[in-house]
Amino acid sequence: MLEGKLALVTGSTSGIGLGIARSLAAKGARIVLNGFGDPAEIERLRSKLAADAGVDVDYEGADLSKPEEIEAMISHVDSRHGGVDILVNNAGIQFVAPVERFPVDRWDAVIALNLSAAFHTTRIALPAMKQRNWGRIVNIASAHGLVASVEKAAYVAAKHGLVGLTKVVALETAGTGITCNAICPGWVLTPLVAKQIDARAEASGRPVEEERRSLLLEKQPSGEFVTPEQIGELAAFLCSPAAEQVRGAAWSIDGGWTAQ
Ligand code: NAD
Repeated sequence: MLEGKLALVTGSTSGIGLGIARSLAAKGARIVLNGFGDPAEIERLRSKLAADAGVDVDYEGADLSKPEEIEAMISHVDSRHGGVDILVNNAGIQFVAPVERFPVDRWDAVIALNLSAAFHTTRIALPAMKQRNWGRIVNIASAHGLVASVEKAAYVAAKHGLVGLTKVVALETAGTGITCNAICPGWVLTPLVAKQIDARAEASGRPVEEERRSLLLEKQPSGEFVTPEQIGELAAFLCSPAAEQVRGAAWSIDGGWTAQ
């Protein structure tokens, strides 16, 4: 279905981004991975994905909180692979603190990666998509792009901003073969969430397993985590011809979180 297309998935050395890279590769897309981690482990992921899916898989180590590294990454991808067809803005971080004690440098870091990076990748990748009159931009927002929680000022602001950016880009590309949509996941058990569960267990003195259950039940009526594979398949659908008229959507996949 996506044979020949080049998908750049930011933050894909772990968690949701890796799940999306796997789904797009399984549909035939060539993949550029991005994210941090141990170089040997990243090379293992890269070569396994290439072998499993039978597609080219490359890796770019750019720090997406730095606009100049984003620019260099996309121009490198353009020259090596002939331009980005599918852009998945997934890289993200979290920091939890009450607003009056929220460290300014953490605010800046969350906004830079979770919101501004998507603006930069989009503005740089869009002209080549327009030239080909085909493109898919999938922004990984969050249930926190639609509703708030305490102590997540920067994350909630960034994810609401990302949903807004998605709508603007969808309108500006409405007359073209380029679509832009957001996916809004609920809890997914990735390193980003495991850290929050560990912090809660440390603060409460309760076992990690108990904190994992209570974190889920506070927000997610299904009582089950969403999986990276499920998000990957939703992203692949948004890249398919069937989704051509899905434009500017903020698509929930959250076990009922935002239906409440
Ligand atoms: P994760 O921590 O498992 O993965 C984050 C990825 O981003 C990693 O590959 C990491 O190396 C990369 N990364 C971090 N800083 C980077 C930087 N400066 N430059 C480039 N890459 C960087 O997290 P995850 O849970 O898979 O989250 C992925 C996205 O999904 C995030 O945007 C997150 O906000 C969103 N999300 C996660 C959940 C959840 O429950 N896990 C829910 C909703 C939305």
